[in-house]
Amino acid sequence: GDVILQINDLVVDYGSADQPVRAVDGVSLTLRRGQVLGIAGESGSGKSTLAYAITRLHQPPAQITAGQLLYTGRDGETVDVLALDDRELTDFRWEELSIVFQSAMNALNPILRVGAQIEDAIEAHRPGMSGEERAERVRELMRLVGISADRVGAYPHELSGGMRQRVMIAIALALDPEIIIMDEPTTALDVVIQRQIVEKIMELKDRLGFSVIFITHDLSMLIELSDEIAIMYAGRVVETGAARDFYSSPQHPYSQGLLGSFPTLSGPKKTLTGIVGSPPDLRALPSGCPFRTRCPHAFEPCPVEDPPLLPIPTVRDADGDAPAPRAVACHLYTAQQAALAEGAAV
Ligand code: SF4
Ligand code: MG
Repeated sequence: GDVILQINDLVVDYGSADQPVRAVDGVSLTLRRGQVLGIAGESGSGKSTLAYAITRLHQPPAQITAGQLLYTGRDGETVDVLALDDRELTDFRWEELSIVFQSAMNALNPILRVGAQIEDAIEAHRPGMSGEERAERVRELMRLVGISADRVGAYPHELSGGMRQRVMIAIALALDPEIIIMDEPTTALDVVIQRQIVEKIMELKDRLGFSVIFITHDLSMLIELSDEIAIMYAGRVVETGAARDFYSSPQHPYSQGLLGSFPTLSGPKKTLTGIVGSPPDLRALPSGCPFRTRCPHAFEPCPVEDPPLLPIPTVRDADGDAPAPRAVACHLYTAQQAALAEGAAV
């Protein structure tokens, strides 16, 4: 599909002037229309900060200090998201891109009926709509997310956690956005309910045609749902590629560790190797590759040079489909990457 959101070298800093912390360190990612881009990494890898920054909902002291966010709407016009003023940004957030947070289901107002809360979102952005039309839209949204329309009068506490999360999804969909960002949308719910909600989101994606950025630490769910995957470590993207390629042959030692550290739901049992140690302190990153203190393959260049994220060769699949681009940030691939770059230059 064509590109709907292009993130270029995005940097988010927080902390104080004398102790700056780089939470997102030069992230470049591409979201294609109608697709799911999955972002995974341990907590503290910068994935939530990235989600907030994309919607510009990050709070001070977090600050976007460099980079570009380019959004291309259905009309083909490209918007520079970082240049939007507050008013434009408010509209952008509802009409083009909305977000469902981890704790979203607790964000509902406890003393307002859920139908009224969905209606408020519509009214703020569609002042010309009649009360009748709004009420009909609320019922439509509730049906879309799988809640009986006769629950419009319910208060949040009268609904289960799963139902409250569905209400939040209805609110996110209220203005028919083109992109939905899901930051651990179901982690607070039990596994069966999580599954139902995620399946509902995917069904709606196919039906309504929006694109999704899905952020989670649940790698098995991510691989199953995503078209493309990005793995984050210490604020950087260390590997990107098609979900199926990533699953069959993870390239970065961190990705290999992550994949080894979760049990597969089907197929042969894998040895749970896991990853030794814990994520680094962003205020005191090791020199060179930030993963080197945990990496079983670290060698001479690793403490010296921070490996950039560069393309690696891909293989055309059995159906002859064009290979999805893959990239990895690791010195083990320097020779392959150089050969590829040379080939591309000729
Ligand atoms: Fe390991 Fe070196 Fe690759 Fe970093 S660059 S992941 S330390 S091999
Ligand atoms: Mg998070």
